[in-house]
Amino acid sequence: DEILERVKEEHELGEISFKTWIKPLRVHRVDGNDVTILVPTEQVGLDYVSKKYKLPIKAAIGELTGKDCEIYFVLPQDADKEIKEKQIKNESILAGLNPRYTFDTFVVGSNNKFAHAASLAVAESPGKIYNPLFLYGGVGLGKTHLMNSIAHFILENHPGIRIVYVTSEEFTNEVIDAIRNGSNTAINKFREKYRNIDVLLIDDIQFIIGKESTQEEFFHTFNALHGAGKQIIISSDRPPKDMDILEDRIRSRFEWGLMADIQMPDYETRMAILRKKQEIDGTSVDDDVLEYIASNVKSNIRELEGSLNKVIAFSNLEQKEIDIELAQKALRDIISPDEPKVITADYIINVVAEHFNITGDDIRSNIRARKYSYPRQIVMFLCRQMTTNNLQQIAEAICVQNHTTIMHGIKKIEQDYASNKETHDTIDLLKKKINPPS
Ligand code: ADP
Ligand code: MG
Repeated sequence: DEILERVKEEHELGEISFKTWIKPLRVHRVDGNDVTILVPTEQVGLDYVSKKYKLPIKAAIGELTGKDCEIYFVLPQDADKEIKEKQIKNESILAGLNPRYTFDTFVVGSNNKFAHAASLAVAESPGKIYNPLFLYGGVGLGKTHLMNSIAHFILENHPGIRIVYVTSEEFTNEVIDAIRNGSNTAINKFREKYRNIDVLLIDDIQFIIGKESTQEEFFHTFNALHGAGKQIIISSDRPPKDMDILEDRIRSRFEWGLMADIQMPDYETRMAILRKKQEIDGTSVDDDVLEYIASNVKSNIRELEGSLNKVIAFSNLEQKEIDIELAQKALRDIISPDEPKVITADYIINVVAEHFNITGDDIRSNIRARKYSYPRQIVMFLCRQMTTNNLQQIAEAICVQNHTTIMHGIKKIEQDYASNKETHDTIDLLKKKINPPS
């Protein structure tokens, strides 16, 4: 409005002229220094405005914003077409994305919080902070889910931005097709597709290793985009340094930006993922069954979700309520019943140390700070309950001289267990971690 007022003043426009030609103008799009203005009239009106007011508007914008712009005018029907084209383009990107894989459905745990934060930061400010973003982690730990989340977020929050999301297999196939076709147009078309974008996401980059022409093409794409400040996001099942036969020049580029790894989820995160999945699917399975699954399926989230699906499907098939027994039956191929496990003091020390984010040596030390003494006493208590060790043996396992210290520690936790909810819950959780229900 300020710009339009300025045009009016400087050209001493009468009220009618102003109302007819200038006041209805709206900014349709700003793309760098290109400003497209919507003229809500007919072609003649557009021609007239364009002829008479283009320079005054350009000057007014320059005065008010300090920017030297190119001005374009567009009619509503053409603007609509442009928006539609953009929508179609977004739809074709969306077609390659999984609608379920968004930040909303991604459970953040200690195993992935860094990768999650980095992904969100890049999605909010593509090309501005970490470039490239390199996400890595084992199979089924959430890389594709995060990559998709970034793409969805950008599509929603930065509508004008051009994104391409591909797996490295798709990328490879496109390179091969372009080369096989042999014509310059095929190769140029490929390059045009990958170099005229703002964000490139390549999933599972490890598959381009050893494919020379793909690596070559990727290298040039990477340089062109990176040099132009465009965002690149890559996922891989391993860090660059472990990609043995990857060319050094590519490896070093992966390490330019930010690398974030995704680890295996801990028990709490596995439970949270199962609960989230229930919420999304609208199912409700008892906690003890979820606990059974979460404590036995540890290394792969796809398998964790698959296990829950399998239990639900099995219950429909058998027309039986879901309980532990049914879950065991449904999952007998996935969860092999362990040989009876002997719980040792050392094992308890490890589980408790991990839970409190300290080391086994901290437990075995005589540092008195509560950060260590409390977990140490919990170890004493759990050893007494869960192993056949006597006090002397427990003292030896924790490297404590005197077994009255052990007695004292056990008593302390016994009292806490009865009176303090936090200790109560911690002990129950640790017991489940040490000896999963089976
Ligand atoms: P990757 O690409 O690393 O092999 P995916 O992204 O395909 O793994 O994840 C496997 C499955 O686990 C997907 O269904 C995904 O939605 C789910 N998943 C992984 N991590 C999480 C998480 N943190 N929260 C919710 N679901 C997750
Ligand atoms: Mg994947």
